[in-house]
Amino acid sequence: MSAQITKPAVSLDQIFSLTAVRTDRWREMLELGRKWLKHEVSSEQVQEHFTQLSDLEILHAYPGKPLMQALAAQLVAEQRDAFVALCGRISFSILARYYKEESHEWQLYPDASALSDGRAHDEALGGRPYFEVLIVAPSANSRVERNVQLLRSMRRKEDDFVYEPVVVESFQDAFCAIAVNPNIAAVAIFEGFDFSSKQKVPLLDHAIQELSVHIDDDHLALQLADVLANYRPELDIYMLSDRHPEEIASDSRAKCIRRVLYAVEEPMELHLSILEGVRQRYRTPFFDNLKHYAKQPISTFHALPIARGKSVFKSDWIRDMGEFYGHNLFLAESSATTGGLDSLLEPTGNIKEAQERAAKAFGAEHCYFVTNGTSTSNKMVLMAIAKPGDIVIVDRNCHKSHHYGMVLGGLLPYYVEAFPMKAYSMYGAVPLRAIKKALLDLKAEGKLERVRAVDLTNCTFDGHVYNTRRVMEECLAIKPDLVFLWDEAWFGFAHWSPFLRPRTAMGAAANIESWLADPNSIRDYEQQQEQLGEQPSAETLLATRLIPDPRAVRLRVYQTNSTHKSMSAIRQGSMVLVKDVDFYKIEPQFHEAVFTHSTTSPNQQLIASIDVARRQMELEGYGLVSNAIQIAFDIRSQIKRHPLISRFFTVLGADEMIPEQFRESGFVDFLAEGMHWNKAVASIRDDEFFLDPTRITLVCGTAGYDGTQFKNLLASRFDIQLNKTSRNSVLLQSNINNTRSDVAHLIRVLMEISTEIEVHLARSGEEGRLQFEQRVQSLMHDVPDLPNFSEFHPDFRTDVGNHAAVEGNIRDAFFRSWDQENCEYVALNSEECDRRLREGPAMVSAKMVIPYPPGFPILVPGQIIGADTIEFMRKLDVKEVHGYEASKGLQLIRLAAQ
Ligand SMILES: *Cc1c(COP(=O)(O)O)cnc(C)c1O
Repeated sequence: MSAQITKPAVSLDQIFSLTAVRTDRWREMLELGRKWLKHEVSSEQVQEHFTQLSDLEILHAYPGKPLMQALAAQLVAEQRDAFVALCGRISFSILARYYKEESHEWQLYPDASALSDGRAHDEALGGRPYFEVLIVAPSANSRVERNVQLLRSMRRKEDDFVYEPVVVESFQDAFCAIAVNPNIAAVAIFEGFDFSSKQKVPLLDHAIQELSVHIDDDHLALQLADVLANYRPELDIYMLSDRHPEEIASDSRAKCIRRVLYAVEEPMELHLSILEGVRQRYRTPFFDNLKHYAKQPISTFHALPIARGKSVFKSDWIRDMGEFYGHNLFLAESSATTGGLDSLLEPTGNIKEAQERAAKAFGAEHCYFVTNGTSTSNKMVLMAIAKPGDIVIVDRNCHKSHHYGMVLGGLLPYYVEAFPMKAYSMYGAVPLRAIKKALLDLKAEGKLERVRAVDLTNCTFDGHVYNTRRVMEECLAIKPDLVFLWDEAWFGFAHWSPFLRPRTAMGAAANIESWLADPNSIRDYEQQQEQLGEQPSAETLLATRLIPDPRAVRLRVYQTNSTHKSMSAIRQGSMVLVKDVDFYKIEPQFHEAVFTHSTTSPNQQLIASIDVARRQMELEGYGLVSNAIQIAFDIRSQIKRHPLISRFFTVLGADEMIPEQFRESGFVDFLAEGMHWNKAVASIRDDEFFLDPTRITLVCGTAGYDGTQFKNLLASRFDIQLNKTSRNSVLLQSNINNTRSDVAHLIRVLMEISTEIEVHLARSGEEGRLQFEQRVQSLMHDVPDLPNFSEFHPDFRTDVGNHAAVEGNIRDAFFRSWDQENCEYVALNSEECDRRLREGPAMVSAKMVIPYPPGFPILVPGQIIGADTIEFMRKLDVKEVHGYEASKGLQLIRLAAQ
């Protein structure tokens, strides 16, 4: 009789992006309502879904009680048309975010005139930024109710922002609210609430189960504050106590609380604190001042003709540039560091403050803005933390800036290898075992003292995320003062996902820091030492998850991120984040490194955009990142489920991207059958590698395209841009700017291409089919081996031990080629090249040879060129190869002995 009602199944993607659940539920509600209109479903079915929806809606301010009650009444009275109309209006308002701008959206019967003349910015909301305040308070407490009403009534026209309260009554509801509701920017906790929720939101049960809190004492309010701050550190948390506020304030757990207020005080105090807290995050010291500067009438006598735009707007010939960019760009250009503009090289004013805010926002102790990209950030860090002759353990697949940084600083790179993904011509990440082995080998040779740092890319271009905490802990167990440089060029946004944050450099550093402070840590360490006994073998150490000595550890962590790659900064905007207990010792060095590498003319707009990117993430990063993850899951599942597209295209799951031995939890993939929430949690926490869901490897070889062809096809015919390709795949990334329309466009395009392939195959008969199959076969199976780092030539080794010489003096080799007589060329495809491989003398690269993208070297100066590298280069599919001129051939170092 009635259609099967679809029970909301809990899938992993919904947990990762809880904020998307709500819009889905409203869409389902509307669909169900329309079926109800046609009598295709029963009232009970509608009621059931509506109850679930209502349980979710208590966690949001809009549509609020009156509208939800109206819907409930219409449902009971079977006013089907009215119910569907109101559902439609509300779900549209949620999607289009009208309720943030138009107060009539909140009314049951909006004033017709308000609707028709579209007074977008009405009195009450005033076009000001809108947010919600979570109020956690005991149920049916008249004083709290009164306070909430007072808060609402305090809304004043002169406030910078508008907010609406969301009131919940339990610990569980409070947690669910901040998880599903990205509008929440502040939380006010009144003491005396319950732990358990009265209603059941089945979806959220899972999240709650995994809340690793032990409710072990009576101060529920403090525990709640702690849990909320862990999940979303950017929230301002207020505690309202009617006991002894000063006692709470002095509790060590209260450090995440912005202010403790006496609950019986005037709510005005709370209101003002809430606004002030958001204003603090909204404030962008550098950008605010730049706007102010641009308004001043200023005559310039400094060397920047373009400043104020006079040379542009008065010109007969270049005025179009001015018209294109607008006045403000030129008014905000300056080479002065006066007028409050501060100096990036030695900031003392608003740049300093902007950097301090960014440091806090990203969980670091210090932050440096860099206007020459992460390429420069990496060189700065390497220069600051190590000196010539120091050894740095580094992933050979690191971005070229690391290798050049070693050349510049005279550091000795000790190359460790990522696991290969031969079938897709790409590399994964470096197994921890390889890193530990490098340290233990160096120790055996008596060189551990010279090892300064471990330098890795997190996440990799293709999305491999390290277990940053485990890597650092185990390395620190071998050498307790190692410095870590995590190149998180792609991963800056991850701080704003509670799931990904523990795997960022700063997230892991914070967790290690708490572990170090925990008295049990010494006991854990000593127990392990006892088990390991005297002189454990290297094999034992490699096989053990090592615990460092908490008394010896110096926690020194650096992260670089291309703010422009994952947040709203202008291209080249980058940051260095520092959490280093010994930073005070190397700060002068760090400044020298900044002076060495920075331009003396940093771009004002770039600095401003980094400042603004921080503001955005602190105020809406949680929702934006959650959305980016949702988009990625949408793309993954649409391609997987689509009968036609999936015939020619696949997205690689975690199971394909990460070998099984690195997924100890047994996690398979986000979309795999039977992947429960707790498995994902275990995977994120424990597995050696995890896949960043927003980086999507789409295999196109099975559709007969190599990566470059497919990338060009998407760009030329469909206006879809992407960056990285491999022999048989392309990389799609979802970002904080993507919308569901982008997903729809992509899927439509893939469908069109799939249809074309099908039509072509049908028309071209047996012969065409065979050709297609051969092409696919070649792209998917005739793949070159991925060369590992071979070794440095003995001339560029220092004191080599018995291991292959993966560490060497890259700087000497680099400058050898400055004299042409030291060089020779051998054509890549020549007999000569094959002969040299067979008979010698060894060919030694003079250059850093870097296919771009992805931009990491397959040869470095001083490296002996192996047969596998030659084969790889011969099959390379990218056109741009830095350090290699096809017309001349491979540039080699001519060695004295030859
Ligand atoms: C892009 C990138 C860099 C360089 O960053 P820019 O901001 O482009 O200079 C460094 N490392 C990795 C891993 C990158 O992807």
